[in-house]
Amino acid sequence: MSDHALRPQSVSSIRGSLLAWYAANRRDLPWRRTSDPYAIWVSEIMLQQTRVAAVIERYRAFLARFPDIVSLAGAPECDILALWSGLGYYRRARMMHKTAQLVAVRGHAGLPASAVELRALPGIGAYTAGAIASIAFGEPVAVVDGNVERVLCRLMGWNAERANTRRKVEDLAAQLVHPQCPGDFNQAVMELGAIICLPRSPRCMECPLRRHCLTRGEHKTGSRPPMQTREIAHALAVRDSIAGPCGEVLLEQRAASQSVMPGLWELPALRNTAVPPGDLRMTVRHSIMHVNYTVHIRSTSKSDVDAITVAAGRRQWISLQEVAQMPLTGLARKVLSRAHLLPVAQR
Ligand code: SF4
Repeated sequence: MSDHALRPQSVSSIRGSLLAWYAANRRDLPWRRTSDPYAIWVSEIMLQQTRVAAVIERYRAFLARFPDIVSLAGAPECDILALWSGLGYYRRARMMHKTAQLVAVRGHAGLPASAVELRALPGIGAYTAGAIASIAFGEPVAVVDGNVERVLCRLMGWNAERANTRRKVEDLAAQLVHPQCPGDFNQAVMELGAIICLPRSPRCMECPLRRHCLTRGEHKTGSRPPMQTREIAHALAVRDSIAGPCGEVLLEQRAASQSVMPGLWELPALRNTAVPPGDLRMTVRHSIMHVNYTVHIRSTSKSDVDAITVAAGRRQWISLQEVAQMPLTGLARKVLSRAHLLPVAQR
């Protein structure tokens, strides 16, 4: 037995305690009501680096519009990005589209059933492959995300900062995964990390693993990179429509060569972040990766917009009827929503 293996009695007890706890305490989330591999794939990709609360409505809207992999494969990319708007990390949506097209070209109606085959597809890493294979297809493979790593490190009293800890965690997860119920078991560990074994102030008194746990509290973890702060400003220019009853808003498309959010539409950036008080429409806070932005939004007339903004991409006046269907950046969607320029259902 290696130094990080558990005795068989402990493995059996941990599995039983976790599954019983999960059956009684799991959150009722829409992707837990299905065994459709496609729907589980969509949820797993959306949940990467995104909060559950932010995903729920996007997940429902996405599946309503693209109910299966064939419909996703045949959709224009801009439609997919429009439904992804607000979730961030748009590369995920593009990779899903690519994978769907690859599956369709090969003449398959769905995703392959094994973690090894899933892993070979674009945008599907070890974690996502293991999650889909175990939850949708019942393959006994373990998954290790941040929650699982934290739970298992605490369970075993391991220092998460040590160089070989990740390897030990993966070995332990593989030893623990339940051979008959791998999907529920994997979700149980992740759920425990999400609602009980929290990064700060874990709720050890409610934990089904406390009898086995060698830490029972916070443990040493690697420090996160500090958040930076930045101040920026954008122009909100709205005019009456020449063609129809609705107004139009001026948007700018980010260049395809941009490393972040290429091809998405945003409000034109102002040259100067100091907005005259009389022109300040609103100030919003917005976070992208490790930067917290304070964003000033200036109401702009169409005559001065070119003088006060930095033209960095293709600009276009977009009808307010159409704007909700555009692939907007999360910030643009937030501002247009707060300015009541999006239909209620699209905010
Ligand atoms: S007892 Fe506490 S530290 Fe240990 S696994 Fe449970 S919640 Fe985490």
